Amino acid sequence: MQDFISNLKGVFKSNYPLKNLNWFKIGGDAEHFFSPQDIDDLIFFLKNKPQNLPITILGAGSNVLISDSGVAGVVIKLNNFDNCSFLEDGKIFAESGALNISVSNLALRGNPPQGGFEFLSGIPGNIGGAISMNAGSFGREFCDICVSVKALNLNGDILNLAKEDLGFSYRKNSLKEPLIFISSIMQGYEDNLENIKQKLEDIKIKRNDTQPKKVLTGGSTFANPKENNPHGYKAWQLIDKVGLRGYKIGDAGFSEKHCNFIINYGNAVAEDIEKLIAEAQNRVKAEFGIELHQEIKFIK
Ligand SMILES: Cc1cc2nc3c(=O)[nH]c(=O)nc-3n(C[C@H](O)[C@H](O)[C@H](O)COP(=O)(O)OP(=O)(O)OC[C@H]3O[C@@H](n4cnc5c(N)ncnc54)[C@H](O)[C@@H]3O)c2cc1C
Repeated sequence: MQDFISNLKGVFKSNYPLKNLNWFKIGGDAEHFFSPQDIDDLIFFLKNKPQNLPITILGAGSNVLISDSGVAGVVIKLNNFDNCSFLEDGKIFAESGALNISVSNLALRGNPPQGGFEFLSGIPGNIGGAISMNAGSFGREFCDICVSVKALNLNGDILNLAKEDLGFSYRKNSLKEPLIFISSIMQGYEDNLENIKQKLEDIKIKRNDTQPKKVLTGGSTFANPKENNPHGYKAWQLIDKVGLRGYKIGDAGFSEKHCNFIINYGNAVAEDIEKLIAEAQNRVKAEFGIELHQEIKFIK
């Protein structure tokens, strides 16, 4: 491995701490960590890496729980891929490392201003994470703005995908092989500045009213269940109904304010959060016969 590592242009480190690279502030070290300088550097890495090296992609870390024992193989983070700009035809181009809020702010400054991106303003990840999770809120999701995505497969081949190729559905895509998303082209619609500003303000108010602020969390722990759910219960309602609002294990607990959020109150470990997740799944299954599926991704 050492031979080709010395030819990389980006940052490559071993035993790299991941605790400060995720919103829970939890987890062990990456066996290896790579932040490529550019796409050629990433392609070079993928084409030369040992065949069986496990690869994990980390975005802004707002939807992941990193194992206490760390992550085997290499964790790749696209720190240098943070450009976003308008294309000549009025669509927006953003690299995967661009924050959602940067894209939402850019849309506002369009000439004419572009509506439809407001929902991104409250989702604290970056565009790569939004593609991966089909992130959404307040009635809109990433697939509503996505036109196309540029990606690499793990052999370093470039793929240009139309939105339809990604098979987006609620909080996921249905790609058959793991891909590294590099950038996306997105499209909104012409709107006036006042409308957009009002929507941004409404989103801010709704989030402040319903979500805990300035806490260590991974956002919604479970997706809202679609199957065996005749009453249409949301995940938070089920957690509430089985008595887990405010319930703690170690230094982690379901939020009092939004009980589908798990909070690290200071010194929680991933194991505490895994136990909370299992407790909720078991209680909800026993009382309602509903399977709660995690929205948060475990990274090991
Ligand atoms: C306070 C709070 C509020 C939230 N509110 C919402 C909400 O309203 N709606 C919502 O949908 N989500 C919400 N989330 C969850 C989270 O912000 C989203 O899922 C977000 O899209 C994750 O993006 P990220 O960059 O942080 O990805 P990460 O958490 O780093 O990764 C998430 C997944 O995406 C993969 N991934 C990331 N980048 C790439 C890439 N370039 N190529 C391939 N795979 C990649 C990772 O491997 C992982 O599987 C919230 C989270 C928090 C903490």
